[in-house]
Amino acid sequence: MAAHLFFVTGTDTGVGKTVFTALMTAHLREHGIRAVALKPVSSGSRRDGRILRKAAGQVLPLEEVNPWHFRAPLAPREAARRERQRVRLCQALAHIRRVAERFEVVLVEGAGGLLSPLGEDFDSRDLIVALRARTFVVCPNRLGAVNQTLLVFEALPRAAAARASVVLVSPRRPDLASRTNPKLLAERLGPGRIWIMPWLAPKKLTA
Ligand SMILES: [Mg+2]
Repeated sequence: MAAHLFFVTGTDTGVGKTVFTALMTAHLREHGIRAVALKPVSSGSRRDGRILRKAAGQVLPLEEVNPWHFRAPLAPREAARRERQRVRLCQALAHIRRVAERFEVVLVEGAGGLLSPLGEDFDSRDLIVALRARTFVVCPNRLGAVNQTLLVFEALPRAAAARASVVLVSPRRPDLASRTNPKLLAERLGPGRIWIMPWLAPKKLTA
């Protein structure tokens, strides 16, 4: 497998995983790196897959960016069962590895949070471990972010946690908590592992 693998998870659903993954993918491609982003499993809307596909210059069809999509807005395992379907860890891994053979960097976005059930026998943590992926933990930068982020780090195996970074998504208006969270997190996790994502107007993201 040739590609560097990054996995994007978050402290909750709807925290900015897709935005960060899309920005990273576009940034790497602007610098001439053959990067692509995948959302292997999704449920409810298929918007994430479309955004990631666009961020990578549409080099892959949606069916490869997001091979498993289920209609119910539930954890993917349950959404799949409602369509009498099953996704297994070995299938998801095989797909990601096949794509990774053709690119320099592959960013994989989970669905929901670290332990949200993605398929019959796996969640995002299982993918991170099996892929030995570098992990980004996306969290809204607000009061409570330190605890939420550290809980995710606690849930990661030690080797994965040691290579993981935090992405704090800036609020529209910074407050005392958002200004001091990066320092508190750096004290616990070490320097150089806290990334700050600026606040972006929602309309700019979908334009
Ligand atoms: Mg998303």
